[in-house]
Amino acid sequence: MTLDHIKSRQYKLQSETVRKRLEDIKKRPILLKVDSLKKKFQDREGEIVALGNISFSVHQREFICVIGPSGCGKSTLIRIIAGLEKQTSGSILLDSKPIDSPSSDRGMVFQNYTLFPWLTIKKNIMFGLIMSKTDRQEANIKAMDWLELVGLSEFSDLYPHQLSGGMKQRVAIARALATRPRILLMDEPFGALDAQTRAQMQSYLLQIWGSIDITIIFITHDLEEAIYLADRIFVLGSSSNQLREIVEIPVSRPRKPDQFLSSEFLATKKHLEDLINPEKRSTAKKISIKNGIVEKSSSLEG
Ligand code: ADP
Ligand code: MG
Repeated sequence: MTLDHIKSRQYKLQSETVRKRLEDIKKRPILLKVDSLKKKFQDREGEIVALGNISFSVHQREFICVIGPSGCGKSTLIRIIAGLEKQTSGSILLDSKPIDSPSSDRGMVFQNYTLFPWLTIKKNIMFGLIMSKTDRQEANIKAMDWLELVGLSEFSDLYPHQLSGGMKQRVAIARALATRPRILLMDEPFGALDAQTRAQMQSYLLQIWGSIDITIIFITHDLEEAIYLADRIFVLGSSSNQLREIVEIPVSRPRKPDQFLSSEFLATKKHLEDLINPEKRSTAKKISIKNGIVEKSSSLEG
């Protein structure tokens, strides 16, 4: 057994505070309930199983990250929750009601900036509010409040192209939250940002999440990002795009960047790497056995 393997198991060791917190979350009402969800696509070469047979529940104010290799159905899952795509079978309930179309109870933020380029950032935020029948004056006040929350009130009259990538995503978050959705759906929202901006945005999102009543489902392929943000991580994958594992994050809150080096953070990262790259794991095992038993053979081979 290698040191790495000992580390990866440690992700199951939760401090008393973390265990209590995770237990308390489970006592909250269920916001989203997904049961035996399947999605198949038909293309020229035949049938594609985009989602196998997926079931899970998300509790109010929970922060869920979804990870898994490319093509494992992450975007399909979030699009079905958003009501942009219809499942082939299975049920999906938000506040006990079936989801069948997009609605203002779900906000979305994508990787590509989806702001209207011809509107100022304030008007971008007002747009959704006016669409959901808020009168203009009130929409104006609310948009300014949201810009304040994301630290952009002094830029309210600028257009999206005048902002940096990070600022644009802050506007996109404000716009998605302004109509007070029950759940915020984020599909690799920070994927196009440089590392430093991305780190800022992660801390920033945690701050917003801590200050309002919102549940978040956040897709990423960055394992550290997922551990830093989530209460639980849903790991999708395997040959038929199933939910492989639900991982409870043993890192305490409030999260701070120096936790990236804590043993529980590293153990969780190792565990997720093993789940996502099973081949890598078996190679590592072979090498360690080889080194332990017949050390010379590896140099002969080499
Ligand atoms: P991920 O976001 O995890 O990379 P997706 O949810 O985008 O994965 O896709 C899951 C699978 O479904 C992939 O094999 C993809 O090619 C397929 N797929 C997604 N959308 C469509 C579509 N509209 N038509 C056909 N196949 C699709
Ligand atoms: Mg995707």
